[in-house]
Amino acid sequence: MRLHWHRRDLRGSDVAGLAAATDDATAVPVFVFDEDVLAHASPPRVAFLLDALASLRAWYRERGGDLLVERGDPAEVLPRLAAEHGAEAVTWGEDYSGLAAERDARVRRALADAGVERRPVTDGVLHEPGSITTNAGDPYSVFSYFWKKWRDREKPAPHPAPDASDLAEIEGAPLPTLADLGFDEPEASIPPAGTEAARDRLTEFLDGPVYRYEERRDYPADECTSRLSPHLKYGTIGIREVYERTEAAKADAPDADAAASVEEFQSQLAWREFYAQVLWANRDTVTENFKDFERPIRWRDDPEGLQAWKDGETGYPIVDAGMRQLREEAYVHNRVRMLVAAFLTKDLLIDWRRGYEWFRQRLVDHDTANDVGGWQWAASTGTDAQPYFRVFNPTTQGERYDPDAQYIKRYVPELRDADPDVIHEWPDLSPTQRRRAAPDYPDPIVDHASARERAIEAFETARGGD
Ligand code: FAD
Repeated sequence: MRLHWHRRDLRGSDVAGLAAATDDATAVPVFVFDEDVLAHASPPRVAFLLDALASLRAWYRERGGDLLVERGDPAEVLPRLAAEHGAEAVTWGEDYSGLAAERDARVRRALADAGVERRPVTDGVLHEPGSITTNAGDPYSVFSYFWKKWRDREKPAPHPAPDASDLAEIEGAPLPTLADLGFDEPEASIPPAGTEAARDRLTEFLDGPVYRYEERRDYPADECTSRLSPHLKYGTIGIREVYERTEAAKADAPDADAAASVEEFQSQLAWREFYAQVLWANRDTVTENFKDFERPIRWRDDPEGLQAWKDGETGYPIVDAGMRQLREEAYVHNRVRMLVAAFLTKDLLIDWRRGYEWFRQRLVDHDTANDVGGWQWAASTGTDAQPYFRVFNPTTQGERYDPDAQYIKRYVPELRDADPDVIHEWPDLSPTQRRRAAPDYPDPIVDHASARERAIEAFETARGGD
């Protein structure tokens, strides 16, 4: 008998740890609500997680098994369960974020003390951190080099699902509710979790949008990205299965451009693994700048600006649309994430950690590695980051990527009746013109041109200039 400890692999098929657990034994699958993890969680993610667990449990029950769901410290729960079920080993898929690494070290020690074998395996990535390195053996900090090696390396095939006979006959207790775990209902509507929902999402994406992805992925109104991020975060679909299906889509592509578009999507999966290895090699980047500066960056303390940003009330339409999408859907389109993050860190010159914290609370797909990676990129403090002197102009970016203001109008009702030109010119209109066009929409809280100068100056000083 072996225990399989589900963490970020909330599915029944293509689970490396479950395959390892059932290669010549029966498995008892378990999920542990870890108090330390719950302390860093938030309603959107816990809601998604509970839905994913309900689907996983149903999957096991259809096969005559069940999922044990426990609450407590895994370093205490797992040795106890191993003893109760006579398990000689515990399998799990590796997780590379800082919090997980500390917890896993404690779990390893506790299991070793109890005489239980530990079998962690690679699961959530195609190539584990540390396996793709520079010729000097160091982790990459420039994506393009990482990508070339990642792309050319052979990919593992999906693991088969266990047979019903591989699953121990057990009976789990009912799942807790959000309230049992101490969380309110999320303000945003949360997408369905579970493997069926993930596969439907992937199928819909690979049936068409993936072939336009390269050309259209930056246009938020198009909805042409996969929206797989919460599924990849919680592992409701296996990364090997996703990759295999993208390879099939590439083979079926109608022409070379469409095939290149699939490869562009695959490169986003590589970004995910790039940031995983950045965090794995530099655990303190969750709180510290990746780049070294001569002097601290003089971030501004601006509670009102921060609040206006959170509320989507900055008077910059594309920024406000993104921040309101976050409130409504616990998700923001990638291009818009870049714009809202740049607005906070450059136009408002507010510390990226304040923005990261808000995203951590609000995103359903919050993933430490990607979130920190994205924030430090936008703040010009990270690996392969946006150069500090290239400050996004939220007005021209809005014009370019949402020319008809369709995305903006979807999330900012005050602007629904306004002409797209008026929307894009908003910060440059006179107060009278603004009142006439959209009386309920706020004036810009900052002047972009002077804010840009201020940000560049702050970065130059931090880099050691006068
Ligand atoms: P698609 O375009 O369909 O991409 C497919 C998958 O590739 C994504 O689901 C994701 O797993 C991965 N991916 C795509 N872009 C990136 C990227 N730039 N970096 C790393 N992985 C990527 N992504 C998260 O998963 N969680 C986060 O908490 C997160 N926070 C971010 C914060 C900021 C400030 C920025 C700029 C980006 C952040 N991203 C984050 C990356 C990216 O915005 C999302 O992964 C993407 O928007 C999710 O939508 P999708 O699944 O439709 O993406």
